Amino acid sequence: MWVCTSLCRIRAVAGPRHWLSLASGHRGPAASSYSASADPSQVRALVYGHHGDPAKVVELKNLELAAVGGSDVRVKMLAAPINPADINMIQGNYGFLPKLPAVGGNEGVGQVVSAGSHVTGVKPGDWVVLAEPGLGTWRTEAVFSEKVLVSVPSDLPLQSAATLTVNPCTAYRMLMDFEQLHPGDSVIQNASNSGVGQAVIQIAAALGLRTINVVRDRPDIQKLTERLKNLGAEHVITEEELRKPEMKNIFKTIPQPRLALNCVGGKSSTELLRQLAPGGTLVTYGGMAKQPVTASVSLLIFKDVRLRGFWLSQWKKDHSAEQFKELILTLCSFIQRGQLTAPTCSEVPLQDYQRALEASMKPFVSSKQILTMC
Ligand code: NAP
Repeated sequence: MWVCTSLCRIRAVAGPRHWLSLASGHRGPAASSYSASADPSQVRALVYGHHGDPAKVVELKNLELAAVGGSDVRVKMLAAPINPADINMIQGNYGFLPKLPAVGGNEGVGQVVSAGSHVTGVKPGDWVVLAEPGLGTWRTEAVFSEKVLVSVPSDLPLQSAATLTVNPCTAYRMLMDFEQLHPGDSVIQNASNSGVGQAVIQIAAALGLRTINVVRDRPDIQKLTERLKNLGAEHVITEEELRKPEMKNIFKTIPQPRLALNCVGGKSSTELLRQLAPGGTLVTYGGMAKQPVTASVSLLIFKDVRLRGFWLSQWKKDHSAEQFKELILTLCSFIQRGQLTAPTCSEVPLQDYQRALEASMKPFVSSKQILTMC
């Protein structure tokens, strides 16, 4: 049997018989392993062979599943979201790119089907999520090394489990790691209806923090505002309102934020900076507007604002697997206490992936596309 460690392979069952090498940019035991041998069962997967428009380069293929090695776990994927980073990876515009061809998707939840003889941490029936990106979650089944799996309670709502490892982790770390915030302090953010934004609102509320949430205007803004307020948002304002002088009235009842979370860049981030308290920090974690972050000289000199960045992949490199598991368990307890729900989602069967990919790239959809594998 051929088993890979740093490089893993899948073979497309349909179409020309050629080996597709599937490597995670991360080296070592993180890789999921496929071979043409042993297990005759076929799995379906969304594969891309080159970078480009996801609607054109992603294909649904049948693959053969590898045998389960001693430290491997066979996992039936249950659900996996389409996140902006997944799209950027397919387009070839991301900080880390798996070798091609690759299976799309970086997070999701699966159920253990069987485990190799050396596996001690999970058993059949357990729900698991992935500790590493680039392993390809848009597929019906996979064989993963035990080392990349984290068990989560199987009574979590499916959508919460499927969307746990990227956005809530990012939201929690950004709230904890840049400023020492205390109950009653405030945080301002843009793209507040994003997956990260919704997690920020809920985790902040659970920690007693007050949030000012900026969104883009839209015809159904009232509905969106209500939805975010139901999650715990204190203020929901549009980008246009953020620029108005009346904005300062908000700070009659809420302290100026020491933390601003920027998912957008461009003018939106300049406005967030203007609202920061002296010495406050703007953390950039996304660049949806594809515009640079510009800080005025006067804000830097007279308010000494700090510009920082956050990338969850880097945080994971800088911390141990145990620390990541701890983070996941902390977030699971928020979910179990009813303090953290999944972002608004639309479940789409795997075979309808074209529809899901298209919706995930449209503006103003406000709904995370989740591929379901049944
Ligand atoms: P999501 O749920 O798909 O939501 C996308 C958000 O971006 C929506 O709020 C959308 O607002 C907004 N948006 C799209 N185009 C925009 C534009 N041109 N100008 C302003 N806003 C725009 O996204 P997500 O999964 O939360 O991810 C959000 C961002 O965070 C992505 O860039 C992602 O890569 C990044 N992220 C980074 C890390 C990290 O570690 N650094 C971790 C997780 C996510 P509308 O409703 O108005 O369209």
